[in-house]
Amino acid sequence: MNIILLGPPGAGKGTQAKRLIDKYGIPQISTGDMLRAALKEGTPLGLEAKKYMDKGALVPDTVVIGLVKERIQQKDCAKGYMLDGFPRNVSQAESLDKMLTELGQKIDYVVCIEVPNDELVGRLTGRRTCRSCGGGYHVMFDPPKKEGVCDKCGGELYQRDDDNETTVKSRLEVYSNQTEPLIDYYEKQGKLHRINGVGDMGTIFDRITAVLG
Ligand code: ADP
Ligand code: ADP
Ligand code: ZN
Repeated sequence: MNIILLGPPGAGKGTQAKRLIDKYGIPQISTGDMLRAALKEGTPLGLEAKKYMDKGALVPDTVVIGLVKERIQQKDCAKGYMLDGFPRNVSQAESLDKMLTELGQKIDYVVCIEVPNDELVGRLTGRRTCRSCGGGYHVMFDPPKKEGVCDKCGGELYQRDDDNETTVKSRLEVYSNQTEPLIDYYEKQGKLHRINGVGDMGTIFDRITAVLG
């Protein structure tokens, strides 16, 4: 089963993906996580991507398409995968369709998590992420047991550089201008499922699994 998780920054794609991994046994492929890992390693690709990420702009298509193409052919993707944060614009979606046709694969479900903008800003500025395991928290909505420390692995929690109010505003604009057109794109393919992303995380998980079966 191949799934795309669509939705604005802060909608809960990463949060739900972590839960879906356990239920369906398929990996999460987050282009944002892959770019941050490249940056942490200091690779040329990571340093190039940082220029765009710091502004809240999209990294060039060729970069992310290359990453995804390589990743989906790895062994752990044989039974399927969840794409989180990719595709981000129509050109990426078209490249993905082409790539999957060549590989004899297809997308089965596009789950679009919908949350109003005013709630997204608070979710993003309060988000904390584990440096070691990538686990997600929120200072108010999902706090760790001990401040600054990951419940799962004891790693240090940090605030992403792009989760400040100014960059968040740009990211939300980029979403509505460049990513939102994908809703139409996948609706036309008959794959789109809209999920109300407001409510507690468990309820939203149930709404998603009701679609995926
Ligand atoms: P969020 O989950 O908050 O939406 P991501 O981790 O997906 O954030 O993305 C962070 C940043 O990484 C984006 O603002 C963008 O600069 C870059 N990025 C991630 N995925 C893509 C992509 N598919 N295409 C272009 N840029 C991307
Ligand atoms: P995305 O991957 O779509 O950018 P995340 O899953 O990282 O979003 O969630 C963004 C922030 O909002 C995180 O701090 C997370 O703990 C919090 N969050 C996720 N789902 C909910 C929810 N249903 N209600 C309140 N906060 C949430
Ligand atoms: Zn951790």
